[in-house]
Amino acid sequence: MPRYRAPLRDIRFLIHQVFDFAGHYARHGHEEVTADLIDPVLEEAARFTENELDPTRTEGDETGTHLESGQVVTPPGYKKAWKAFVEGQWNGISCSPEYGGQGLPHSLGMAFHEMAESANMPWCPLFTLSQGAIRAIEAHASDELKQAYLPKMVAGEWTGTMALTEAHCGSDLGLLRTRAEPRDDGSYSVTGNKIFITWAGQDLTDNIIHLVLAKLPDAPAGPKGISLFLVPDRLLDDSGQPGERNNVAVEALEEKMGLKASPTTVFRLDGARGWLVGEPHRGLAAMFTMMNAARLDVSFEALGIGQLSHQGAVEYARERLQMRAPAGPREPDQAADPIIVHPDVRRMLLTQKSLVEGCRALGLYAATQLDIGLGSPDEQARGRANDLMALLTPICKGFFTERGSEITDLGIQVFGGHGYIREWGMEQLYRDVRITRIYEGTNGIQAIDLIKRKTLASERKLLDLFLEEVRGFCDANADAGEVSTELVARTRKVADEWSELTDRLMAAAGDDINAPMSAAFEYLEYSGYAALAWCWARMAVTAEQALKEDNADRAFLEGKLQTARFYFDRILPRTRALAESMVADTQSLMTMDDEQFFMP
Ligand SMILES: Cc1cc2nc3c(=O)[nH]c(=O)nc-3n(C[C@H](O)[C@H](O)[C@H](O)COP(=O)(O)OP(=O)(O)OC[C@H]3O[C@@H](n4cnc5c(N)ncnc54)[C@H](O)[C@@H]3O)c2cc1C
Repeated sequence: MPRYRAPLRDIRFLIHQVFDFAGHYARHGHEEVTADLIDPVLEEAARFTENELDPTRTEGDETGTHLESGQVVTPPGYKKAWKAFVEGQWNGISCSPEYGGQGLPHSLGMAFHEMAESANMPWCPLFTLSQGAIRAIEAHASDELKQAYLPKMVAGEWTGTMALTEAHCGSDLGLLRTRAEPRDDGSYSVTGNKIFITWAGQDLTDNIIHLVLAKLPDAPAGPKGISLFLVPDRLLDDSGQPGERNNVAVEALEEKMGLKASPTTVFRLDGARGWLVGEPHRGLAAMFTMMNAARLDVSFEALGIGQLSHQGAVEYARERLQMRAPAGPREPDQAADPIIVHPDVRRMLLTQKSLVEGCRALGLYAATQLDIGLGSPDEQARGRANDLMALLTPICKGFFTERGSEITDLGIQVFGGHGYIREWGMEQLYRDVRITRIYEGTNGIQAIDLIKRKTLASERKLLDLFLEEVRGFCDANADAGEVSTELVARTRKVADEWSELTDRLMAAAGDDINAPMSAAFEYLEYSGYAALAWCWARMAVTAEQALKEDNADRAFLEGKLQTARFYFDRILPRTRALAESMVADTQSLMTMDDEQFFMP
């Protein structure tokens, strides 16, 4: 069973040396968050996730959840972990102090978040969905709703859910059928059936606040007719405490591949009382406040699980003895060498390491843009950061989660047959991570978002902003050092190719919209690999510089440079195949008749 150890050294390297979070906080309105404050937060996060959360992961998978009289019974240890989480004030880490939060920057919250995902990913939507709901309520609800709900939600006394999906609609929410009728008292009566609602009905808190998408009687058809409602499990009494039950019921739990300890509920609203959040018919836009953050959260889910799979694989590969190293015995006193000596096992471990650490760098960089976009006093900086986030959200969501499957698959392979056996805990990670490619918008939908909304519709303005950042870095580090100079040059080359491919797809769209849409998934993958090249070049420059200055962390820094080289030599060339298939004629994809796909 992989036992989680927080990768504090790597997180600190990124936070202090590569990105200088303290400087970034000072520039954007968080001067109180100095390096002296950051380190204890990270250490406490590591303590909580390693000691309180990690021990609940395997048992949760074994026990799962079940329904008793409409209430979800959670696995042993979950109540204790939630209590410790709430007492540690982790739920409100990045929430506004106005409602009792700690008001720390989102990027620091994300570092905690990654650790929690590694320790127990199925448990995490309890707080990530709550934080998304808090953000949506804070941004769009009336003051009355904010005062009534946010303090308890921020404190972790109540949790939140996101209730969008219905049996006949997931990607296309414009089709939804849940209705909301106005009542005389200004509230609404909400009726409909939702499926796949995560963490509804749980037995950990005394209220659950659902953010529900529904249509008003005068709603226009399609996505422009959707409104957002706050629907509590229990209505609040005159003193603001949970009282009478609302007409909301969990009717069943889905049986599923992974996430056994995270209830996925079938959920019925039968004239439930709800309150409008934001403008009528503008619910999808309001929900996007929640979903954009949720998409970055899902990226960190995949990253966190990938980290744990990598740790498990490295430990195993150091101990498992099989055959001899090709160039002769490495441990002649042993019956065989540890498998970590074999080139193919090293390929798997370095693929995991380079992808996990590269994604961590890109994820934390994206989180700094979230800090600026949501909280900087500088309006221009906010606009720029929001534009960068708009581009990076589908890239992180799509790319990290695709890699999450790859990384956990490799984790199984390093264990050989034992990876397939439950007792080792590696197959759980593979099962659990699989959902990240599906929920919060499938990766097919992320790819369309990237090419259509973020690239074609903006006439590539968002990409140019990011490329400006990449090229600025390349200019400043053209002679950075023995190893990094070459990596910087290769980063410039891939940035130039990314730009050219974008032009080609944009030009092709003029004649045939199927051209960019057919290339959308490859384009998303390409963008991920290219963005990670920039991150790896940044890490290489920082590591090489640090090696010149002090030798205290020599082994770690040299390992960084080695991994950077591996990324450029062995992973980045995947862009060659993507570039070629991306600009291929659409005929081979689009001309086959639907019935020709399978002819028995
Ligand atoms: C474990 C789990 C937890 C979940 N939690 C929640 C939750 O808490 N709240 C909630 O509201 N929902 C939740 N969901 C629902 C999830 O977000 C949806 O399943 C997802 O958005 C996809 O919708 P769908 O299943 O209806 O698939 P569909 O929309 O039917 O898609 C089927 C396939 O068609 C593709 N596709 C559809 N349209 C297009 C297009 N225009 N172009 C290209 N490809 C397209 C999709 O990419 C996909 O591959 C959860 C689902 C699961 C399984």
